[in-house]
Amino acid sequence: MRSACCSLRSSALVCVLFFTVCRVHAQGFVIDDAVAATARDLMDRAQSDNAAYEIVASLTTEVGPRLAGTESEARARQWAVQKLRAVGFANVREEAFQVPLWERGEERARILTPFPQPLTISALGGSAGTGSAGVRGEVVAFASIAALKKAPPGSLAGKIVFIDEVMARSRDGSGYAVAVGKRRLAAYEAARAGASAALIRSVGTSSHRFAHTGQMRRVTEAGEAGVPTAALSAPDADQLQRALSYDGPVEVEVVITPRQLPPVPSGNIVAEIVGRELPEEIVLLGAHLDSWDLGTGAVDDAAGVGIIVAAAKLLLDSLEQPPRRTVRIVLFGAEEVGLVGARAYAERHAASLGQHIVATESDFGAGDIWRFDTRFADAALPAGDAIGRVLAPLGIERGGNRASGGPDMKYLREAGVPVVGLLQDGSDYFDLHHTPDDTLDKIGENALDQNVAAYAAFVYLAAELDVDFR
Ligand SMILES: [Zn+2]
Repeated sequence: MRSACCSLRSSALVCVLFFTVCRVHAQGFVIDDAVAATARDLMDRAQSDNAAYEIVASLTTEVGPRLAGTESEARARQWAVQKLRAVGFANVREEAFQVPLWERGEERARILTPFPQPLTISALGGSAGTGSAGVRGEVVAFASIAALKKAPPGSLAGKIVFIDEVMARSRDGSGYAVAVGKRRLAAYEAARAGASAALIRSVGTSSHRFAHTGQMRRVTEAGEAGVPTAALSAPDADQLQRALSYDGPVEVEVVITPRQLPPVPSGNIVAEIVGRELPEEIVLLGAHLDSWDLGTGAVDDAAGVGIIVAAAKLLLDSLEQPPRRTVRIVLFGAEEVGLVGARAYAERHAASLGQHIVATESDFGAGDIWRFDTRFADAALPAGDAIGRVLAPLGIERGGNRASGGPDMKYLREAGVPVVGLLQDGSDYFDLHHTPDDTLDKIGENALDQNVAAYAAFVYLAAELDVDFR
């Protein structure tokens, strides 16, 4: 097929130029020559474009930390509306919803006996407080959340639970899904066993002395509240473990004073490039605007905001006419505190989810993309493979067909919207994740350009090609 296709061309040079197209044809899906060439042109332009970094610098400097529901998250929405209008997107708007507001208070801990010294902690998002007097108790260590689940009800009365489960480092971040269980459930498993507070080894891979915060489940299905719960930095978890290795009890004090407040406004920010032929058909690019309060949320997820906005901007600046379908950017609010913006989007747009052709989110830092995953109907897989071949020169391999699409894609995916994952190298992502160390200096000036190239090519192809991914 390849040689037959190429024989139509008059010269070997042209044959080489159209190699990708010929291969696509050979495998059952033809990407039009001009379309493939435009995708490659977008990829080239992205390599010399610094727009994504400039967006990340602007958001992290002009807004800084932007915890869901706070005044600073509201300023991030204003920033986004202004920025997206200035770039020239259409239909820039806020879609408001309500979110419970959790505010961090004072937080400190120390070993009382046998080796008195301070410990570095950070309260988990949604945690109850200890009151300013704090709680004191003997530490009981568990190797995992599974081990704590086996503790009989009431057996830990007056004790402070310590879950010392280590998270594995990996390129695809798969260690997170396992490790996050202890963060989500420690508070109420500890409460069920009668403990008065819980400490967990941070869900993270760093050895620096920062604790990693993150959302915990606030109440059980039965509506039961958990105990005050905080993360220890990795070196402090090591220290506590060593203290426990001596004979005799280890007693600690934990003081955290967060407050859970009534719901307040949050919102998603939406912007579009309106499709020239099928404006009602949506190709959705997401990222989340909120961050944890400790750092400036540069890798989580200003990087994603920069990547998708710069990719869509590149289409706007480079194409002579808009693609056939609408490209919709969604900057989700309140992701960190439980995908509140994602749920609000899926509910508000329930009637049009059938016209969401494909969706994806950038929310895994600033590393290069190395794999292209899909979640398409079998019939659409040749088209997915063809798109994958266009992306291949960026060093991106074709992955499987079980993409999650990213955290904010959960409800769209569950509603049957096809999703893709442009998987970034996340080997060091969890060194910074949810810590005070998540700041702009961790991102190199041109580090995001490969991501922009991949997103720009993908979104253009998905919006231009006549493919139903369902
Ligand atoms: Zn994130």
